[in-house]
Amino acid sequence: MRTLVLNAGYEPLAVVSFKRAVVLVLNSKATVILSDIDHPVHSASGTYERPSVIVLTRYVKIPRARLVPVSRRGILRRDGQRCCYCGHTATTIDHVLPKSRGGDESWENLVACCLGCNNKKSDRTPGEMGWSMRFNPRIPHHTAWMARGLESAEPQWGEYLAPLAA
Ligand SMILES: [Zn+2]
Repeated sequence: MRTLVLNAGYEPLAVVSFKRAVVLVLNSKATVILSDIDHPVHSASGTYERPSVIVLTRYVKIPRARLVPVSRRGILRRDGQRCCYCGHTATTIDHVLPKSRGGDESWENLVACCLGCNNKKSDRTPGEMGWSMRFNPRIPHHTAWMARGLESAEPQWGEYLAPLAA
């Protein structure tokens, strides 16, 4: 059983084990806003609500780079699985400035790319290909959607994750 942790502003932040969540609540670091009443937690010191969703009492500011690690899945998701160059379904990741020429593995230098464009482009830049980019790759603004564990969300978290679908 896992617990969804919301930041003090109610943005989804992380998914933790319910034990970790209980400790946060007992230490007044978080408040339970949704509990699993059918499965209370029994321990030597008493019985507790099993937290399903908790909200932190104090706002935690997390460095953007740490919250949003660059990943293949993250890039595809940010770009809506569409090729940055032609708009077709993308299954690969392209380095805008090729790696061989110093391009880095950053949100700003990686884009979703279809296999065809990726093969054609090889280690050239979009400019050299005469291609335009459909968008400027950026670090995602809505950082919370990348929180670890949210990909396999529990059904009861739905309303707390709803803003993410927007
Ligand atoms: Zn393409």
